[in-house]
Amino acid sequence: AAPTSAAAPILADLRLQCAAPLPVLRRVADAMAADMRAGLAADGAGELKMIPSHVYSLPTGNETGLFYALDLGGTNFRVLRVQLGGKDKRVVDTEFEQVSIPKEIMRGTTEELFDFIAMGLSRFVATESDKFHLPQGRKREIGFTFSFPVKQTSIDSGILIKWTKGFAVSGTAGKDVVACLNAAMERQGLDMRVSALVNDTVGTLAGAHYWDDDTMVAVILGTGTNACYIEQTETIPKLQHLVLGTRNTIINTEWGAFSDGLPLTEFDREMDGESINPGEQIFEKTISGMYLGEIVRRVLVKMAQVSDLFGHSFPKKLAEPFVLRTPHLCAMQQDNSDNLGEVESILNDIIGASQASLEARKTVIQVSDSIIRRGGRLAGAGIAGILEKMENESKGQIFGRRTVVAMDGGLYENYPQYREYMKEAVVELLGPEQSKHIAIEHTKDGSGIGAALLAAANSKYA
Ligand code: ADP
Repeated sequence: AAPTSAAAPILADLRLQCAAPLPVLRRVADAMAADMRAGLAADGAGELKMIPSHVYSLPTGNETGLFYALDLGGTNFRVLRVQLGGKDKRVVDTEFEQVSIPKEIMRGTTEELFDFIAMGLSRFVATESDKFHLPQGRKREIGFTFSFPVKQTSIDSGILIKWTKGFAVSGTAGKDVVACLNAAMERQGLDMRVSALVNDTVGTLAGAHYWDDDTMVAVILGTGTNACYIEQTETIPKLQHLVLGTRNTIINTEWGAFSDGLPLTEFDREMDGESINPGEQIFEKTISGMYLGEIVRRVLVKMAQVSDLFGHSFPKKLAEPFVLRTPHLCAMQQDNSDNLGEVESILNDIIGASQASLEARKTVIQVSDSIIRRGGRLAGAGIAGILEKMENESKGQIFGRRTVVAMDGGLYENYPQYREYMKEAVVELLGPEQSKHIAIEHTKDGSGIGAALLAAANSKYA
């Protein structure tokens, strides 16, 4: 094979294609704002679904009483209870439990899944101690976080469009998931009621807004990505038939589906082509945790094919899709030592490259950094696009005051370089004056308590 230096032109090309300079960020932010407007005008008019949450009451801090949350979105479901003490006492007590969902339940019938959930919930309710108080004559109310594609029909109902993320439960698509849960609770003799059905991003925004009412946007950067924000109902053409007057609501953008104007490489296109959803979720595939490691792996494969980057023979494990994961990139990028010993051991352990020279290790870091930097900068452009769209709708709403963007998700939490690139891009786009007003803040478990807070803010007894 050719010497390691034969990989240099690939790196140079990659850096150029992933640079995402200001004009590219500008184009992406503007396209994001335009697509948001299209999605608000009519369903299917843009790439962003812009799903109305039907949340018209955000938690204010005045909520009191006992509320439950149920979170179904992956291989676990979480149950949580919280005792709210109003303006001064806020969250008096909270307890939660996590239950893993057996494979056969994920592929069973609707009744089996919801019975399993209702049973878990019932066991959890049975452990409620006297730290929690339910007023006489009330049912326990639940905020149900359901992180699958739903056509929301009201604050407490929504129809499942399709299962995703490994769920293949029969008979649920086309049904109201709250009705499914209610029926299962009835079969269990569990007398509770769902007061809010929410997407996890919406729950995150509600939770962050409870603690800081300058919070206007929530962004999740984890395995996947999504964002939601507070919108005025009068600027949502597709809701005008509801006669809502002037109120605020939360819009779930589903921004992962965005693709307009993104700087993509051959590696992105190949990964997308081989994915289970080709042509879909392109923004998500460029900026979120599930994919960043895989893009880097694909670059390294090409480099190892044309050079002796990892020694004379091609490391076999490198050929396996998704072996290199985003946390590995992160660990390698934290290695500040002269000999890059941590990089060496990760390359050895993960892709079986036992002969990575110092030059090769440096190349791997540069490839990772190009992909991470592009991801962070594009995420920042998306945030700037949302903020600019909001400001355009009513001047001063965003840049005339303090505005908080609440952030959550494993990628954002754990990857310092990604975070910095993202924030830099926001500042570059907004400029020093406007960005002074924007606080990008990590919210810890917004979505767990957030759903319970939404149940409280939308209580049937209020
Ligand atoms: P999810 O998005 O799956 O609901 P999280 O918000 O916890 O859950 O995000 C998990 C994702 O965060 C992982 O898939 C991974 O991509 C990313 N992640 C986790 N740990 C790290 C890390 N140390 N460095 C970089 N990314 C990480």
